[in-house]
Amino acid sequence: APAFVDSPYVTQMRKTTWNLYSHGWDERNGGNVSYRLTADEIKMYGDVHSVLRNIPIKFDASALKGDYFLVTGTGRYFKNVTDFPQRDLGLVRIADDGKSVDLVWGFNDGGQPTSEFPAHLMTHIQRLQHDANQRIVMHCHPTNLVAMTFTLPWNEKLFSRILWKMQAESIVVFPEGVGVLPYMTPGTNEIGAATAKKMGAYRVVLWPLHGVFGAGDSIDEVYGLIETVEKAATIYTAIKSQGGQFVNEITDDDLHKLAARFDLTPNKDFING
Ligand code: 13P
Ligand code: ZN
Repeated sequence: APAFVDSPYVTQMRKTTWNLYSHGWDERNGGNVSYRLTADEIKMYGDVHSVLRNIPIKFDASALKGDYFLVTGTGRYFKNVTDFPQRDLGLVRIADDGKSVDLVWGFNDGGQPTSEFPAHLMTHIQRLQHDANQRIVMHCHPTNLVAMTFTLPWNEKLFSRILWKMQAESIVVFPEGVGVLPYMTPGTNEIGAATAKKMGAYRVVLWPLHGVFGAGDSIDEVYGLIETVEKAATIYTAIKSQGGQFVNEITDDDLHKLAARFDLTPNKDFING
């Protein structure tokens, strides 16, 4: 039977953690990724069928019982994951009572899932109610987007409209806009619950003064979502550094035309006309 380390899931995690590091969005141990897998998808691998350790969790994940998550370890450097996947990644199965996870692969030096596991699992639970193909939750620290949360008020309409108007692609990629939380302490159940609640209406949620959470069906999709949001934030930052004076703009009428061309329903609360 093939080894799980050679699976496409581990390969995708290695590539994306390296990519996040290379972009400067995940310094040191910054950022975390979780990838939902089913029992069916992992059954062909020979080395994922015995429980190595049981790891308690401090919230109720019973809605995900029996599901597997390939997840980055807490304190692990994204710079290193590609060289040490079996150390810095783990594959866990949610126990039936939802109060612990069984480690079946990885974390081979005693590691544990990310400190943001509450936000990840609660987001998976929330997004699964909207999308049966929900697979990926990704958290990172994109520089320009985080910087904008220092210079602008934490208003979803304001952030969504600015990001939409920085490039034609934005509204096509996130027609619902972006959610914005208040500042909260990372790694807590509270920020997890607040993130998941926002994920009822958005797939991108900003954590002011810290970073961003994204959710979706594939690594490519979620990475692309965050990449597009951060590109818009980078254009905004460049405009501000060119003096900040807008001479031209993507108008609300332009946004409506983009939505019509790509057959999208943009968030009506954030768009005029
Ligand atoms: P972990 O190392 O626990 O994944 O935390 C990194 C992080 O970005 C916290 O928000
Ligand atoms: Zn973080």
